[in-house]
Amino acid sequence: MREEELRRYNRQVILPDIGRDGQEKLLAAKVLCVGAGGLGSPASLYLAAAGIGTLGLVDDDEVDLSNLQRQVLFASSDAGRPKAEAGQARLQQLNPLITVNCHRQRLTAANAEAIFSQYDLVLDGSDNFATKFLVNDCAVKLGMPLVYGSILGFDGQMAVFWADEGPCYRCMLPQPPSGYVPNCAEAGVIGAVAGVIGCMQALEAIKLIVGGKQWRQQRLQPMVGKLSLISTHNWQQTQIDIPKNPACPCCSLPREQIQLQDEATTACAVSTVAEVSAAELRRLEQPLLLDVRSLEEFRRGHLPGALNIPLDQLPQHPLLSQLDHHRDAIVYCQSGGRSRRAIEALAPQGFSKLYNLQGGLALWPGELVTPADEEN
Ligand SMILES: [Zn+2]
Repeated sequence: MREEELRRYNRQVILPDIGRDGQEKLLAAKVLCVGAGGLGSPASLYLAAAGIGTLGLVDDDEVDLSNLQRQVLFASSDAGRPKAEAGQARLQQLNPLITVNCHRQRLTAANAEAIFSQYDLVLDGSDNFATKFLVNDCAVKLGMPLVYGSILGFDGQMAVFWADEGPCYRCMLPQPPSGYVPNCAEAGVIGAVAGVIGCMQALEAIKLIVGGKQWRQQRLQPMVGKLSLISTHNWQQTQIDIPKNPACPCCSLPREQIQLQDEATTACAVSTVAEVSAAELRRLEQPLLLDVRSLEEFRRGHLPGALNIPLDQLPQHPLLSQLDHHRDAIVYCQSGGRSRRAIEALAPQGFSKLYNLQGGLALWPGELVTPADEEN
């Protein structure tokens, strides 16, 4: 390591979990950021600052004034410039000792493999399901770890998918959701949430590079096979183990049989959850009702016939295995946030018809019952 590098990276080199060895690994690492947007901005800034030797930015978009609220990689004067190009300039300005590659193109099934094969780790900062699935499939095909992130509103999620060491994204979500899913452009997002999740992704990339295939023996434990869900409304955080799916449509295949494809759907972002309104719920025939609030809240009043499985007891609750996985199941909470996270936790377990009660009990027009009412 050169003296200039030692000085620049000193504050992390003196950490026992990084050290000179770890820094050498970072300098030798090649990381691709898919999307130079809300997540890619903070992630690439911290990766460049940490001395990742080669960074790639793939993005075909141009900087728009409405991006600057969260895409801190860009300055106002960058408006109208290609993001990959403006991002490359900014990162080189921050750290001239590293190499930054600009891939000014849309990631497609045709070019993904050629781009990915120049790197050893990929960070997903895309905002749509089509790209997220393509990124996953290409990472699995090439045996690369993938640091996944997603944001919407005040919520975010992050996970590490690495098919050689654990599950892939399709183990959690086999296909893009068919229903309508809002994206950040429609539903909104707060910039600092992109900062939180993007920084988590950068940190996971650093942990993966330092730990390598020996990550299990390190004190730094990357989130391989774990999904972290964060609601910044109240900083409620849930961590879910994602099991490897032996029938996964992607990582169960031999690598050479994985076909990259441009998914038709362009739906986007964090939520993959179908919803029903109170009126629609009343038309369903004997749906399963799952109340994922706390026992205390449940006792104060719930929908008639509902089962109480608090969110923090998912996904291991013993009742789950006794339920019919193919019956319509309505999951609800007070306002629809916890139930959305519950559905994301339940979907990988084979429940095929999960619906979120729109707006939760806050918008429920009917009566609630207590356990005492139900005994009578
Ligand atoms: Zn898989």
